[in-house]
Amino acid sequence: MELRRMYHDLGISDEVYDFGEKILETLKERFEKIDEVAEYNQLKVLSALQKHQVSEACLLGTTGYGYNDLGRDTLEEVYASVFHTEAALVRPQITCGTHALALALMSNLRPGDELLSPVGKPYDTLEEVIGIRPSKGSLSEYGITYRQVDLLEDGGFDYDNIRAAIHEKTKLVTIQRSKGYQTRPTLSVERIGELISFIKSIKPDIICMVDNCYGEFVEMREPSDVGADMIVGSLIKNPGGGLAPIGGYICGKKECVENAAFRLTSPGLGKEVGASLGILSSFYQGLFLAPTVTAGALKGAIFAANLYERLGFRVVPDGTESRHDIIQAVEFGTPEGLCAFCEGIQAAAPIDSHVTPEPWDMPGYDSKVIMAAGAFVSGSSIELSADGPLKPPYAAYFQGGITWQHAKFGIYKSLQSLVDKGILSKLFP
Ligand SMILES: *Cc1c(COP(=O)(O)O)cnc(C)c1O
Repeated sequence: MELRRMYHDLGISDEVYDFGEKILETLKERFEKIDEVAEYNQLKVLSALQKHQVSEACLLGTTGYGYNDLGRDTLEEVYASVFHTEAALVRPQITCGTHALALALMSNLRPGDELLSPVGKPYDTLEEVIGIRPSKGSLSEYGITYRQVDLLEDGGFDYDNIRAAIHEKTKLVTIQRSKGYQTRPTLSVERIGELISFIKSIKPDIICMVDNCYGEFVEMREPSDVGADMIVGSLIKNPGGGLAPIGGYICGKKECVENAAFRLTSPGLGKEVGASLGILSSFYQGLFLAPTVTAGALKGAIFAANLYERLGFRVVPDGTESRHDIIQAVEFGTPEGLCAFCEGIQAAAPIDSHVTPEPWDMPGYDSKVIMAAGAFVSGSSIELSADGPLKPPYAAYFQGGITWQHAKFGIYKSLQSLVDKGILSKLFP
């Protein structure tokens, strides 16, 4: 068979291939459902592009101040339509997801206000933004306090303590959709909606912000469809579709987005400046591709979960759980297993497949970290990538794949790497 020979030529043994194909056969129905969501979201994006009459001129960029940047302003209208919000800020000047989140927080909070996270500890990089870990320029330095209510043991919301934590100073609530590097489950849009309704029933004027990183287009609805006042994310994850080379977005209530724009550029200038240079066509085309790219990454995550679960490794989420982001964790239990997995992912990359990832002392982490990434856009995690800290349980966090076929190949390569290193010698003698 042609396909088998092709895999063979790329270093995948018959045992690995046959093992994987058998698992894939069990996933057909699930993949059909994912395709249905992708189809819905494709139409959602397309209708927004058409509604705002995106023209060829929109794909060009401006320079200098960037006044009257038609493409930039229209793109923001398109994003607002896709996410059903009043306004959007979508800019290459927003350098990454952390920056977008910091911007949304810093621009909408004032000294004396309090920020509440009712879903436990936020993403690592936000600790310094908030000042949980002391840091120059943190919210804490500006007199903005922070409170946190952890999730219950079973992953549920601690409604009693959330109610008790809300008082007259509570101005903004931050809700992280994806689990990030934690083991709690990722929140579904439905659950986020329930939490927001509860919070608004206590204090209706609280701004509810959702860190939407890795969640975009995984479901038919977004947190902005269930009451979020702001949703925030990175363009080198899902909504950039693998094409955006930089950028972040904030979509939401007009006032919230305006505040963010005045903070990003300057009071008085806001959204009016910010030249788009030449990258708008990648933002438009990336958004257009994002629903199918996200679907491919999701299939990869589910395939990896089922494959590694069958081999006896703990996987989070497990093989059958419903999905609300594109991250897959696989616990290898040993540094050798984690490294072998990451080496396999690296070897599957379109760029830098010839290099071997090495664990290194990454700033801000208390153990060495290994990272596999061979991406067209540096650091892009909508592209096939994996990383993990070298400490128990030696979990690899795996995500991305611009195409399902590539994600699949990456998973085969990772398994082959484990087999070749003798880590699975009992199953693949
Ligand atoms: C990636 C991510 C961030 C931060 O984004 P960067 O682009 O890495 O700065 C924040 N929150 C979550 C949940 C993320 O996945």
